Amino acid sequence: MNARNGALFVVSAPSGAGKTTLCKAITESMENLTHSISYTTRKPRPGELDSRDYYFIDEDRFRTMVAAGDFAEHAQVHGNRYGTSKRVLDDMVHDGIDVILDIDTQGARQIRAAYEGAVFIFIMPPSLAILEERLRNRKSDREEDIRNRLRRAIDEIREYELYDYIVVNRDFDRALSELRSIIAAERCRTKLLKSGWIEDMLK
Ligand code: 5GP
Repeated sequence: MNARNGALFVVSAPSGAGKTTLCKAITESMENLTHSISYTTRKPRPGELDSRDYYFIDEDRFRTMVAAGDFAEHAQVHGNRYGTSKRVLDDMVHDGIDVILDIDTQGARQIRAAYEGAVFIFIMPPSLAILEERLRNRKSDREEDIRNRLRRAIDEIREYELYDYIVVNRDFDRALSELRSIIAAERCRTKLLKSGWIEDMLK
């Protein structure tokens, strides 16, 4: 038996705050921590791979999965639909694997309601001006998309109180180290321990 259940880390941020890079760096540098691969109806961007970055599916399949209750949470973001597989999540938690969910604030609310003990982390850009500059430097989005993302960023930042921790991504290494500390501490929570494991140990 695993000593403890896996911890669930929900990480949200406005697009351009550096969340994807931070989540990638953290899963590569910490043991027993994995990134949950979401389902999406969005088309892959250049360089993205199916089953690595997302499971890219069509609208019909997404609808069927929603109807079957396959998602732990799902939401519409920037006109596309995204969802997290409930089965994969529950299996990982049961197997003692810590999971990062890189999802938006709508999804975070749903996880908050369904998974007691999940940990909520918000990656904050140092300023809106820096966020805009980062979005423009990506060069992969059209002007209209950038404006939409900025508007959405403001709405998401206003939801900061949903989160247990705020990591300001001014300096990447510092933000990464803060994220690592949060995860390291949360992994030691008493509530993650499986009571059966303690009983076995004391036999
Ligand atoms: P992108 O399309 O740029 O990869 O992601 C756009 C937004 O969708 C990001 O804020 C990302 O966190 C969010 N997102 C990705 N996967 C999921 C998911 O499974 N559920 C929810 N609710 N949001 C997601």
